Amino acid sequence: MHYGGIEAGGTKFVCAVGDENGNIIERIQFPTLTPEETIPKVIEFFQKHEIRALGVGSFGPIDINVKSDTYGYITSTPKTAWTNYPFLQALQKELNIPIGFNTDVNVAALGEVTLGAAKGMENCLYITVGTGIGAGAVVQGNLLQGFSHPEMGHILVRRHEEDSYTGKCPYHKDCLEGLAAGPAIEERWGKKGIELENNSKVWEMEAYYIAQALMQYILVLSPEKIILGGGVMKQQQVFPLIRENVASFINGYVELPPLEEYIVPPSLGDNAGITGALILAKQSEQ
Ligand code: ADP
Ligand code: ZN
Repeated sequence: MHYGGIEAGGTKFVCAVGDENGNIIERIQFPTLTPEETIPKVIEFFQKHEIRALGVGSFGPIDINVKSDTYGYITSTPKTAWTNYPFLQALQKELNIPIGFNTDVNVAALGEVTLGAAKGMENCLYITVGTGIGAGAVVQGNLLQGFSHPEMGHILVRRHEEDSYTGKCPYHKDCLEGLAAGPAIEERWGKKGIELENNSKVWEMEAYYIAQALMQYILVLSPEKIILGGGVMKQQQVFPLIRENVASFINGYVELPPLEEYIVPPSLGDNAGITGALILAKQSEQ
């Protein structure tokens, strides 16, 4: 009984075949070029395996409203080759199986709540801090969705008093993503995050911004677990700083679980997304 999963990212597509428990049996990856170049390779991979259903976690923004005429499309992405691309339809046409379609972060949240750090919980948040910032939320056992998927990376935050960087978001300049995603760190400090490991000011500022976002997510959603993934969060030393800032911002108003257990890296590591995609595949059959 095999299922397929796709983690479609801005730089690479990870495709996997797995079992009904989300265990990965085979995986492969392709660079994200144009749809004409990348999608046929993806389809060819899945046609070689007998899969019952497919789950897709995609970069976005995407249309996940099943009532919409453009459900399953990638919409206004800055990756122009993919703008208004009918992603789900392209897969469905060739594969003819049930396909679950959601955002990369929602699918990672699904992976972590089913098999990872939030296993057994009804409410969790998965946040990626990488090329962009995005979050997926499981609320009362379901992926949070309104007219569209949430875009929690673009909330506004209070500026750090020593930060004069204008911000990198093309829409809002100094929203959270504009101040704290990987490219913002690189532009503000003139070096990539990985090369700034020993510069404590960088991580103090980073923690200040991320902790503000977490405070707001905590107050609005009351998640039982907060999982922070993505390239920038490979800097493990930022976790204690984030926890300290969250404690200080919340200031005892809400009683939180011990923060070392509450704000954590993904326990599925880099497999959170692809594992969640396999779980979404199984769910899409019901
Ligand atoms: P994507 O967001 O494209 O899926 P990543 O999550 O790896 O990919 O995010 C890429 C961003 O994270 C880049 O801005 C990169 O500089 C930064 N990054 C990647 N690895 C590290 C690291 N070990 N330490 C700090 N920053 C990193
Ligand atoms: Zn923004």
